[in-house]
Amino acid sequence: MTAEILDGRALGAEIKAELRDEVRKYLQERGRPPGLAIVRVGGDAASGMYSKAILRVAEDVGVRASLEELPAQTSADELLAMLQYLNVDEATQGILVEMPLPPHLSQKMVADTVTSEKDIDGISPRSAGNLFLGLPSFLPSTAAAVMEILERTSTPLAGKRVVILGRSNVVGKPLSMMLLQKNATVTICHSRTARLADFTRQADVLVSAVGRANLITAAMVRPGAVVIDVGINALPGGGIVGDVDFASVREVASALTPTPGGVGPLTNVLLLKQCVQAAWQEVENSPETLL
Ligand code: NAP
Repeated sequence: MTAEILDGRALGAEIKAELRDEVRKYLQERGRPPGLAIVRVGGDAASGMYSKAILRVAEDVGVRASLEELPAQTSADELLAMLQYLNVDEATQGILVEMPLPPHLSQKMVADTVTSEKDIDGISPRSAGNLFLGLPSFLPSTAAAVMEILERTSTPLAGKRVVILGRSNVVGKPLSMMLLQKNATVTICHSRTARLADFTRQADVLVSAVGRANLITAAMVRPGAVVIDVGINALPGGGIVGDVDFASVREVASALTPTPGGVGPLTNVLLLKQCVQAAWQEVENSPETLL
C-alpha cells in the first residue's frame, strides 16, 4: 500500500478561499475588515519568520493584521497595558501573543489577561475549560489544524481508535478533547509511556506531536492507518522533517501528512479562521444586533 498524501497546502488554499468570502461579507456589513494584533516580545529569527508567515496569510484573506514588536526588556506592567488596550480596541478582533516570552514574563499572566472573546489561539483557561466541557470555544490552532485535516478528508473518527503522541497544552491535550467530541476512542502517550509501539500499532489514526525525527517507523504503524505528523525537526544541514519516517511509513499507512507541507501550513490558516469567527461573534453580541 502506498499512502495518500494529505496535502496541507491544498487544504489551506481551500480554507483561505472560504475565508476571503467571509471577510468580503464582513467588510460589506461593518465597513472595515476584521483586525488581528500579533504581539511579539523580544524573539529570535524563528519567531520573526512565524510572525511574517501569519501576516502573509492575513493579507491573503483580507484581515488587517498588525505586529506589535516589543523589546525583550518590556516589563510585565507594560505588556499588561498593551493587552488591556487591545482587549478594548474596536479595530482588534483577535489577539495572538507569540510564545515563548522572555523568562521574566509570565505566560499565565498573558493567558489570564487576553479577553476570551479575542483569544483566537485558545490559550486562556476559559477557552480550555469550555473545550473540556464540550462548549463552543476558540481552539489552539495546531490542534484545530489536525482536526480540520481529518474532517476535510472525511477520515472516520466515531468508534475509531486514535493514538496521540504528546500531551502538551497546545497540541495533545486539546486534540484529545476534540476527538472525544467526535466519538473517537483516544489514547495519549508521552515520554514516560512504556512500550510505545504497543499503543501506536493499535491506532486507526495516529498523531505524532513530539519533536523527534524518525520516532515513528513503519513497524509502529498499523497497516491502513491514517498518520498525522505534527512534529517539526530542524535538520543539521538545513531543512525540516517531521516525527515520522516518511519513506517507510508511506508504504504502510493509508494516508499520511508530509513535513513540510502537512499540518504546518494549516496552523496559521486556522488561526485566521478563528480571527474571522471572533469578528462575526462580536457582531452577533453587539448591542445593536441584540436590540
Ligand atoms: P512539547 O510541549 O515539547 O511536547 C512534546 C510532547 O512529546 C510531550 O508531551 C512529551 O512528553 C512527548 N514526548 C517526548 N518524547 C517522547 C517519546 N519518546 N515518546 C512519546 N512522547 C514523547 O511540544 P509541542 O509544543 O506540543 O510540539 C510538539 C511538536 O510539534 C514539535 O516538534 C513542534 O515543533 C511541533 N509543532 C508543530 C506545529 C505546526 O504548526 N505543525 C505547531 C506546534 C508545534 P512529556 O509530556 O512526558 O514530556
